[in-house]
Amino acid sequence: MENVKNVSPFAGGQFNTLAQSGTAPITKLKDKPPITVKGSGTELSNSRAMRNRSKKKTITQKLILCLIDVAIKKGEQERIQAYWNTWHCQNRIYSSGGRVYGKYCKNRFCPVCCGIRKAEIINNYLPAIQKWKAPHFVTLTLKAVPANQLKKRIIDMFIAFRKIIDKFRKWHTKGKSIKLAGVKSLECNFNPVKKTYNPHFHIITPDKATANLLMQEWCKYWGYGITNKSGQDIREVNDPEKCLIEIIKYFSKIFTAPDMIKKPEKKVAPVIYVSAIDNIIWAMKGRRIFDRFGFDLPAKPKIKGGKALITTQYDEWIHSPKQTDWINAEDSDQLLTGYVLTSELMAILDNNINTDLE
Ligand SMILES: [Zn+2]
Repeated sequence: MENVKNVSPFAGGQFNTLAQSGTAPITKLKDKPPITVKGSGTELSNSRAMRNRSKKKTITQKLILCLIDVAIKKGEQERIQAYWNTWHCQNRIYSSGGRVYGKYCKNRFCPVCCGIRKAEIINNYLPAIQKWKAPHFVTLTLKAVPANQLKKRIIDMFIAFRKIIDKFRKWHTKGKSIKLAGVKSLECNFNPVKKTYNPHFHIITPDKATANLLMQEWCKYWGYGITNKSGQDIREVNDPEKCLIEIIKYFSKIFTAPDMIKKPEKKVAPVIYVSAIDNIIWAMKGRRIFDRFGFDLPAKPKIKGGKALITTQYDEWIHSPKQTDWINAEDSDQLLTGYVLTSELMAILDNNINTDLE
């Protein structure tokens, strides 16, 4: 039990540096200059979530610096600033009363902030989707386009989708059709060989009839020169929660892609095409990545601006890219999460990032 006494309550047990050095006393919180923390914070005792955040932060910071390089080469000032905001996201955080608080950049491409948005979407939408009798998963695609056509293509896809929904809403009110409903999310793949982009919608519908109708109308709208039935996909959804998570985690997915290699027999490590990610992020700007159509969510009581808490009892933690963790501002031996970057992931981040302009 001796080790346990030296474990900071702020870290994940055995992974804690304190536990290894065994020198620091159990955490003492003395009065400090008051600070204001906002929101409900994150539970510190959830060490898995905390280490996961540390990993996301580590990957993000590395990629963000590459995105900044690319944006500089492209002369895109607005992008450079937005990327720096994400680089700073959660750089300094405070722990108090067993929870951790920090400032979020709220950029949609920030994996740390995406994690929070993801939880909100699941809380809001999953109860509705779970009530659907036979949910189906639809993918609507078109022929891929080069970078210079990507933004327009995405705008046109949103217009097309809106027109289809509007048409059937009118028909439905006249009693001539079923009502189209569902949730939809935008994703975009990059093909490094052909240098093309494939934006597509992922949709969960309440039933198969809606899925079929959407696919049929999508192909009809665009014509068969630009789309075809074999390019689209419809599947039955067995696990609505898993499916919903899959369609909303797009931006965290492109950032954490290097970590997806789990099979050791797969010798080829993935390459991250930073300039393509940059093109995709900015082509999607102003578009709603996730949205619902044809149904409403039950009204929720409005929370006014998040609660603020003034406290003098806290610890301050600063993120260190080198240590891949947050370090206690008063005791540099104390790490917050105990996350350790694997050599495999380190190698990918060092060697497999491609910053050629696309
Ligand atoms: Zn952020």
